[in-house]
Amino acid sequence: MVIKPKVRGFICTNAHPHGCAQSVSNQIDYVKSQDWPQEGPKNVLVIGCSTGYGLASRITSAFGYGANTLGVCFEKQPSERKTGTAGWYNTASFHQAARANGLYAETLNGDAFSDEIKASTIEKIKDKLGKVDLVIYSLASPRRTDPDSGETFKSTLKPVGKAYTTKTYDTDKDLIHDVSLEPATQEEIDHTVKVMGGEDWERWMVQLGEAGVLSDDCKTTAYTYIGKELTWPIYGQATIGLAKEDLDRAAQAIMSKLSDKSVQANVSSLKALVTQASSAIPVMPLYISLIYKVMKDEGTHEGCIEQIVGLFSQCLYGNQPIYDDNNRYRMDGKETNDATQAKIKVLWDKVTQDNFHELSDYKGYNTEFLNLFGFELKGVDYEADVSPLASWD
Ligand code: NAD
Repeated sequence: MVIKPKVRGFICTNAHPHGCAQSVSNQIDYVKSQDWPQEGPKNVLVIGCSTGYGLASRITSAFGYGANTLGVCFEKQPSERKTGTAGWYNTASFHQAARANGLYAETLNGDAFSDEIKASTIEKIKDKLGKVDLVIYSLASPRRTDPDSGETFKSTLKPVGKAYTTKTYDTDKDLIHDVSLEPATQEEIDHTVKVMGGEDWERWMVQLGEAGVLSDDCKTTAYTYIGKELTWPIYGQATIGLAKEDLDRAAQAIMSKLSDKSVQANVSSLKALVTQASSAIPVMPLYISLIYKVMKDEGTHEGCIEQIVGLFSQCLYGNQPIYDDNNRYRMDGKETNDATQAKIKVLWDKVTQDNFHELSDYKGYNTEFLNLFGFELKGVDYEADVSPLASWD
C-alpha cells in the first residue's frame, strides 16, 4: 500500500514502516558518531522503549555502550490492511540493527503496569541476561490499572488550585486560541498521581530486586519535565507536575528498599520535545513551537537522542553530572535558563493567529510531529507501494 499520514487531532493514526526505520537509523548514526568511553551499562531494561525518550535511551545503550537491551512497550502490530503503530516499526528496526551488531535485543509487548508483564520480564532477564545493571523508566500513559485493587485510574491534565486561561495552538486546525481549564478536584489529582507518579516505578524495582535480577550498583532513572513559569500552570504545578513530584519520593523509596544492592535511583529532568505524549498536552504544542524557534536561533536545540546521549555520557556514566537540590539529573538547562526563557516570554506575549507562522518554528514542530510516525523523513520514497508488515523476530 501507499501510506500517507492520517492526522486526527493531536495524533496520527497510522505510521510508515520505512520512515520509522529511517528515523531509528538516523538516531543510531548520531550515537555512533559520538565518542564513547568503555565504562557503561551492559544489560539494560527499558520500560517504555518504543518511541520518544525511551527509544533514544535504548539506542544509546546499544550503540553507545554495546549493551544488550530488553524492552517493554505497548504497541499495535500491523496487519495486511492496516499499519502498525510507529513504536511497533521502531522496535522492529531496532531489533534488526542491534542483532546485526551482535547485541541481544528483545521486547515484551503488553501493559507495563501489570504484574504479569513484570513477571514475564523477570523470567526473560533470568533466561537471557542473568541480571540488568540499568533500568530506564520512560512510560507515558493516560491510564493505569492498579494490580492490587484492579481499579483503573485515568490521568487529568488540569491546573491545581485555580482555573487557568491561556493561549494554545490547535495543531490540526492550525489555530491559536484561548483555552480555559478548570482546576482539578482532589480525586483527579490523586488519580493522576496513581497513573504518572512513582508507584509503578517503585513496584518494578522492588519486584526486580526481590527476584534477584538487579546487579549490585544497578542504576535506575525515571524521566520528568519540570519546565518554567510559562508551563508551570498546566504542567509543573498542575496535576501532571504533582504526579511527577511523586517520582522524587519513589527514587528515595527505591534506594532505601534496595539498599543491600546499592541501587542508585535518580529522576532525570529533560527538555520539552515533540513526542506522542507531549503533543496531547494543552499549551505544549505552542510552547514547543516557540522554544524550538528560540533554541534553533541560539544553536542550542536538541532532540530526544541528543538529550539522552548527554544524560548517559554526563550524568549516568560520566563525571560531570548536573544535579539539583532534589538529587535529580538536570538536562533541561539550555531550555530553562533565564535568558532563553525571557526570549520565549517575549514571543509568547506577542504571538497571535496572524503572526504565529512568522514568530514560531511552526514548520519544525509539524515536521517533527510527522517524523514521529515515520513521515516526511529524508531518503524515504513515500509514493512507493510498501508492505505494512514488519516482524520483531
Ligand atoms: P512517548 O509517548 O514517546 O513514549 C511512551 C512509551 O511508553 C512508549 O514506548 C509506549 O509504548 C510506552 N507505554 C505507554 N503505555 C504503556 C503501557 N501501559 N505499557 C507498556 N508501555 C507503555 O513519550 P515520551 O515523551 O518519550 O515520554 C517518556 C517519558 O519522558 C515520560 O515520563 C514523560 O513525562 C517524560 N518527558 C517527556 C518530555 C517531552 O517533552 N516529551 C520531556 C521531559 C520528560
